Amino acid sequence: ILQLYVPLNFLGTYYRMIKQCMVDVEAMFRLMGENQEVADADDAKDLVLANPSQAKIEYENVFFSYDPKEDRKILKGVSFVVEPGQKLALVGESGAGKSTIAKLLYRLYDIQGGRILINGQDVAKCTQRSVRLNIGIVPQDCVLFNDTIEYNIGFGKLGQGDVATREEVERASKAAQFEKFVNQTPSGYDTLVGERGLRLSGGEKQRVAIARALLKDPPIMVYDEATSSLDTHTENQIMDAIRVAAQGRTNLVIAHRLSTIMDSDKILVLSGGEVVESGNHQTLYADVNGKYRKMWDSQLQAAMKESPSTVEL
Ligand code: ATP
Repeated sequence: ILQLYVPLNFLGTYYRMIKQCMVDVEAMFRLMGENQEVADADDAKDLVLANPSQAKIEYENVFFSYDPKEDRKILKGVSFVVEPGQKLALVGESGAGKSTIAKLLYRLYDIQGGRILINGQDVAKCTQRSVRLNIGIVPQDCVLFNDTIEYNIGFGKLGQGDVATREEVERASKAAQFEKFVNQTPSGYDTLVGERGLRLSGGEKQRVAIARALLKDPPIMVYDEATSSLDTHTENQIMDAIRVAAQGRTNLVIAHRLSTIMDSDKILVLSGGEVVESGNHQTLYADVNGKYRKMWDSQLQAAMKESPSTVEL
């Protein structure tokens, strides 16, 4: 029996390991929504932040096409600066290039012109791993695994080849204001979620995504706001969680609803791959012929049409 058991046991272990790796790699790609296409330079150095909580982001005249052979430029000379601890919002019509800007910070692609710097260091010359370690991403749609809440949050670290401890998962969950929900589930962090477990609502999934991103305690956070609207109460809860998570970090927000970014230090209005307006809410809104003002007016009109008595943007 022992002779049979040992090899079978080995097989089982390997099977689990292989399966786990496949799940993680696949999931990582799905999470990023992209294939990895860039390689580190031979002399790539790690991104080093003198103060781990201070990150300054600079885009200098960035030009980019997904297919460099094609002529279609997606970004045409984009420049901006986000000081440490500030919040920058990107707004603009669908296809304007907002998500592309965020993807380039994470260095999912190499750019064809200009530079992207974090604390003065060109991300193209840094190791991808060190760049990504410093950036937490909250995607539009959070991919959930058919596994425990702990695994689903801890994945934020698994993606780096590390396993998060229960304490780390709890800390991130607390910071994302998800802890109360977890405590109400039958088995807490061991509760199964996903298709074969507890179904999470849109708002709950968002908080898993925030917790996941916070696991690395990154100095930079990127939020890709969900286009599908949550109800106002849930939306406010998420906004609260994001506000808390944003404290002490440099934040980039891709916004679809203008009401969520009014408090940003800076707002960039993008159109056709170019920054056409920039400023804070007050200054941009005051320009009655500006694009930002027009976007506000049309969102307000759409909201009025939907429910004239309670306008919620
Ligand atoms: P939305 O508000 O709809 O999310 P966006 O402003 O974020 O839009 P991007 O997703 O940055 O826009 O897309 C900018 C342009 O790049 C679009 O024309 C889009 O079709 C194109 N694009 C985006 N991703 C890819 C890709 N992986 N390969 C080729 N083209 C892409």
